[in-house]
Amino acid sequence: MQLGSGHEHGSQNGLEIGGDTFVVMAGPCAVESADQLHTIAAAVAGAGAAMLRGGAFKPRTSPESFQGLGVAGLELLAAASRATGLPVVTEVLDPRDVETVARHAAMLQVGSRNMQNFPLLREVGKAGMPVLLKRGAAATIDELLHASDYIRREGNEQIVLCERGVRSFDPSTRYLLDLAAVPVLRERTDLPVIVDPSHGTGRAALVAPMARAALVAGADGLLIEVHNSPATALSDGPQALRPHEFAELLADLRRLVPLCRRRWSRPSAENRATSSPLDDEVIAP
Ligand code: PEP
Ligand code: MN
Repeated sequence: MQLGSGHEHGSQNGLEIGGDTFVVMAGPCAVESADQLHTIAAAVAGAGAAMLRGGAFKPRTSPESFQGLGVAGLELLAAASRATGLPVVTEVLDPRDVETVARHAAMLQVGSRNMQNFPLLREVGKAGMPVLLKRGAAATIDELLHASDYIRREGNEQIVLCERGVRSFDPSTRYLLDLAAVPVLRERTDLPVIVDPSHGTGRAALVAPMARAALVAGADGLLIEVHNSPATALSDGPQALRPHEFAELLADLRRLVPLCRRRWSRPSAENRATSSPLDDEVIAP
C-alpha cells in the first residue's frame, strides 16, 4: 500500500506499508498543545518513525476527561507533518468529521471503541484514503475482518489492521496483547497488520519487549505512544515512552528488522525534513 494521496494539508510523501516493509507510527496519545506536538514530532522523526500519530478527537471513557483539541488539533498535526515530512495518522470518531479529518491527515484511524460503528466504517470507506482499523477490546478476529469488509465494500482496499490487546481477567496489564492474532490474521487476509504495544500493555516498561516480539511474530509495523512528559500527559501517560526511550527502541529494532527480512518503511528522502539514524538503512520504497 502506498500512502500519501487524498489530503491537502499534510506531507504528501508516498511511503509504503505492507509487503516486506516495517512501518513505525509514533506520537502522543493526544495532541495537547503546539509546543508539546512540536517537541514530540521532532523527536519521533529524528529517531526514525515513518508516520506521526496523534489524536485530535479522543474517545475517552469518561466525558469529564480531556476530549482532544478537535479541529485545532488537526491543524497542529498538519503543521507538524509539514515540518517533519512525516505523514499523519489520526483518529476520526464521528462520521460527520471524516471529510475534515481526511483533509488534514494521510491516514484515518478507526479506534477500538468504534470497530463496529458501521456508519463510521462506511464513511471512511467512502473517503477513499488509507484506514487504520484497530481491533475492538472484545472483538474476535472474525469480527475485525468483517469490520474491514464494511470499508472494502465502499471500494476502499487501503486498510491496515491493528492488534491493540483484548480485555482479560488479569489487571497486571491494561489489556492482553494478542500477538497470536498476527500470524492468525496472516492466514486469513492480505491486509497489513500492525501491533500497538502501548495500549496493549498500558505500561511504558512493557512496550519495548512487546514491540520486539511483534516484529518477530511477523507484524508489518508498530504504533507507539511517545510523550515528552508522561507524568503530566492529558491521556495515557503511564504507557508513553519518553523520546530517548523511543530512540533506544528504534536503535534496537534496527538490528532486528533485517534479521526478520524486512526493510524500513520511510518517507522518501526528498520528503524527509529530519535526518535519523535509519537514513543509512535499506529502506522502502
Ligand atoms: C489510541 O490509539 O489512542 C486509542 C484510543 O486506542 P484504542 O482505540 O486502541 O483504545
Ligand atoms: Mn492512547
